[in-house]
Amino acid sequence: MTDFAATKAMFDLPDGVIYLDGNSLGPLPRSVPERIGAMLRDEWGEMLITGWNKAGWMAQPMALGDRIGRLIGAEPGHVVMGDTLSLKVYQALAAALDLRPDRRVVLSDSGNFPTDLYMAEGLLKTLDKGHELRIVAPEEVEAAITDEVAVLMLTEVDYRTGRLHDMAALTRKAHAAGALTVWDLAHSAGALPVDLAGAGADFAIGCTYKYLNGGPGSPAFIYVAPRHAGKVRPALSGWLGHDAPFAFDLDYRPGSGIERMRVGTPPVIQMTALDCALDIWERADIADVRAKSVALCDRFIAGVEAACPMLTLASPRDGARRGSQVSFRFADGYAAMQALIARGVIGDFRAPDIMRFGFTPLYIDEADVDAAVAILSDVMTNALWDRPEYKARAAVT
Ligand SMILES: *Cc1c(COP(=O)(O)O)cnc(C)c1O
Repeated sequence: MTDFAATKAMFDLPDGVIYLDGNSLGPLPRSVPERIGAMLRDEWGEMLITGWNKAGWMAQPMALGDRIGRLIGAEPGHVVMGDTLSLKVYQALAAALDLRPDRRVVLSDSGNFPTDLYMAEGLLKTLDKGHELRIVAPEEVEAAITDEVAVLMLTEVDYRTGRLHDMAALTRKAHAAGALTVWDLAHSAGALPVDLAGAGADFAIGCTYKYLNGGPGSPAFIYVAPRHAGKVRPALSGWLGHDAPFAFDLDYRPGSGIERMRVGTPPVIQMTALDCALDIWERADIADVRAKSVALCDRFIAGVEAACPMLTLASPRDGARRGSQVSFRFADGYAAMQALIARGVIGDFRAPDIMRFGFTPLYIDEADVDAAVAILSDVMTNALWDRPEYKARAAVT
């Protein structure tokens, strides 16, 4: 059994804050500042350029990929770190389309995160081969998988509502129709068990600053199934994805397997923070995390529905169909969230009217949920949000 009191003690959360936004940016693990300090001093400072070999910086993208691979059911040696998730969307989709040259439809849903759709749109325009980005409602995805579809590109957990797609079933259906799949695990990795190999997923991507707590700007990851890894042609054919980067050849030759999905110089300082954050997962079992996450979400829903009839649940009520977050609709949701934040309960707001709360058992417990419900109930019952200073929108919501 995971000792959640012990994992909670591994995070540095400000006093008086109940942090329900780890689905957007995970908090600071206590070990990170010391480890980053040591890395700067002993590696960058002392080793200078020899750190690439001596401190293993160059091997970090694959080593960290494997650590994350264990949390998402990937085969060892088939996940690599680098760049941002938006770029990984582009890379994965380009590689998948290249494996289905006779088809012209990319199928996604309206619950996908906009950058995924924007990157797809940009890629399809650049390809200029008449591809169509077909966006349907999440509940219509299954029926829309036809033999026109080249790639089914979905985010497993909807960033607004927390609705969870059935990865295994949709992948099976896509394969039966001759399509490939690209799964975005931004709200899955570290939130719930994922079984990429078991589901037969073709490509997967995700970020590491949400449930994996790698810090703002920590690198993304990409997975390519072993059956495709030696075949895909990288659209972003950077030198570190070359078969022999230090041969400095004039022409590009893809590296072996997943290494070809590397692009350029990795962010070593950020990867050090991520490596440190992943140590926490050595103490946590993802099945325990999932069970507690569902229980915390259920507890929050029950408490809020009993106390705040003006809020409408926007997330699936069934925990098995939900990720690790709960959302409520409220017309003045932005102001209500600001009022909550002013009282130490940090969630976030997604337009037009969604108040979003992430539940992360590594550092959130039942007492936090109950305290958050009590404060939310006070804010809503007494309309404490109805003040001009809570209605002025900041750049990041
Ligand atoms: C958070 C998130 C992103 C963010 O992409 P970045 O390139 O890291 O800014 C992309 N897609 C999904 C589904 C997300 O949830």
